[in-house]
Amino acid sequence: MSNEEKLSKVQISWYPGHMAKAKRIIEEDLKLIDIVIEVIDARIPVSSRNPDLDKIIKDKKRIIILNKSDLADEKETKKWKEKLTSQNTIAIIANSLNTIKNNEIIRTIENMMKEKKESELDKGRVGRTTRVMIVGIPNVGKSSIINRLSGKNSLDVKNKPGVTTKKQWIRIANNIELMDTPGILWPKFDSEKIANNLAFTGTIKDDIIEIQEIAYELIKFLNEKYQNELFERYKIHEKEWEEITILENPIFELIKLIARKRGAIVTGGKEDIEKTARIILDDYRSGKIGRITLEIM
Ligand code: GDP
Repeated sequence: MSNEEKLSKVQISWYPGHMAKAKRIIEEDLKLIDIVIEVIDARIPVSSRNPDLDKIIKDKKRIIILNKSDLADEKETKKWKEKLTSQNTIAIIANSLNTIKNNEIIRTIENMMKEKKESELDKGRVGRTTRVMIVGIPNVGKSSIINRLSGKNSLDVKNKPGVTTKKQWIRIANNIELMDTPGILWPKFDSEKIANNLAFTGTIKDDIIEIQEIAYELIKFLNEKYQNELFERYKIHEKEWEEITILENPIFELIKLIARKRGAIVTGGKEDIEKTARIILDDYRSGKIGRITLEIM
């Protein structure tokens, strides 16, 4: 399959109708919102964003959560946090499975609203409740963050009889309410690189990607940028690598070596490449190869 065909294949699975509808819903919801919380994957801070969001939210205040930081390279995440912070935007590093700092998010929201609150008070008005909403592409951890922020309240909301799809507000602090459903953005497949990154991280479902090809590209990247972690994980010795580098396709040879190391062999003694590809992708996605950022500054 050519690169172009591959891109259009993944695009088709996302695009029909979805995009326009998702955009309309978010635009509608945003009218009620003071601050947008955009959740992104810290391993792919560019590929997990949708640049169209800028046009939708214009100059509204924004918090960017670099989530899944437990899987990303710490020093890279710090650089991204700095880069993504600007006049109207504050970036926060989080791991929503473990140690998301609700306080940090709440404090950031309060700080962002401070000036507005003060000017309201000056005019003799009581400060209005701040309303926030979570948005992001699939799989970045939006639901996990909503659950964390809302504690058991979210369960109450869902368990209430008669509650339909109508949006609910969850009070997450004295003067702050969170919309209980996230705004779902669509990934923007601007290049093959972005499509690959979304595949490496599991954002694109494996049934629409060529698993062996994706594992090949991932190994190529890891060998270039995170060779120590890669070799450590699969117990590859420097000498073994030296022997491989002189061959015609060293990356493929490396995959075959990983297959042998992991005992992924089919009858007849040949390496089981499909199985090895799955092992590699599973290991990467669960952080077993290490904390690895795919978009390095
Ligand atoms: P959503 O589609 O954006 O709502 O994402 P989910 O909240 O459903 O999370 C997608 C997957 O990522 C789930 O398997 C989560 O358990 C996992 N996940 C979410 N946040 C984190 C995180 O901070 N670290 C790790 N390692 N996994 C996470």
